[in-house]
Amino acid sequence: MLKKYAVPLVIWLLFAAIAVGLWLALENVFYLFNFLYIGTGLAVGMALYAQGKKWARNAVQWVVGLYLFVYLGVFGQENMQIEGFWYYLFLGVFEAATIHYAVAKIFGPLVFGRGFCGYACWTAMVLDLLPFKAQTGPRRRWGVVRYIAFAASLIFVAALFLLGAQGLAQIMWYAFLAGNLLYYGVGVALAFALRDNRAFCKYVCPVAVFLRPASRFALLRVRVDEGACVSCGKCRRLCPMGLDISDPACRRENAADCILCLRCVEECPQKALKF
Ligand code: SF4
Ligand code: SF4
Repeated sequence: MLKKYAVPLVIWLLFAAIAVGLWLALENVFYLFNFLYIGTGLAVGMALYAQGKKWARNAVQWVVGLYLFVYLGVFGQENMQIEGFWYYLFLGVFEAATIHYAVAKIFGPLVFGRGFCGYACWTAMVLDLLPFKAQTGPRRRWGVVRYIAFAASLIFVAALFLLGAQGLAQIMWYAFLAGNLLYYGVGVALAFALRDNRAFCKYVCPVAVFLRPASRFALLRVRVDEGACVSCGKCRRLCPMGLDISDPACRRENAADCILCLRCVEECPQKALKF
């Protein structure tokens, strides 16, 4: 009975530890509020999901995604995108986007893989509402696009510093607004063009460059009971990331791209998949 709440509890404890640690280390109570809010949102959503509430993951996406995008980004004027990470990195300060990236996208994936993509990304929370819930055709070999986007973001911010641009904070905020418009525009257009809601995540999103390496070794992941699996292929047909999670030979590659939506776990007729 309590076993099904183990993952939400682990997630909540992890975020609570980060909240308290950063609050004390940086002497800033904002981090206590910030990470407790996110951790509690995630844990409650996952607990509701464990009770059979299938809408819970999408609800968590909006609870966390809107907080990051609207509250911290639009109202707080913090660039929470990858350009914001480079900006704070070049300033040499460990705050805002650098902390967000360290927790959600660089080191956190060692525990929860690409959970950010499934439960907190404010671009994907909109893309997941579109009608193309699963990848229908073969996966394209377009992954190089994400490295180009990654390099472009780095070059853009580095150029601002090298050219000694004035009003950097303001520029970064405009870049945040423009970057999000671009992400939503490209994400929606690609979803309709390829009939695949998550096409942007697979081919374009530069954040995946950070997310994928650590996610390969994620502690929390979907695992297959090879004895129970009958290779019916249902999990592959409904996976929004186009993964064959039942294939043990692709264990690491699958973990690098799995967003932990758990549709496969729900729908496996043999109950061969566990999270
Ligand atoms: S849906 Fe279940 S039984 Fe079918 S291939 Fe996937 S893991 Fe195996
Ligand atoms: S949880 Fe299952 S359906 Fe969802 S992305 Fe991972 S492998 Fe695909």
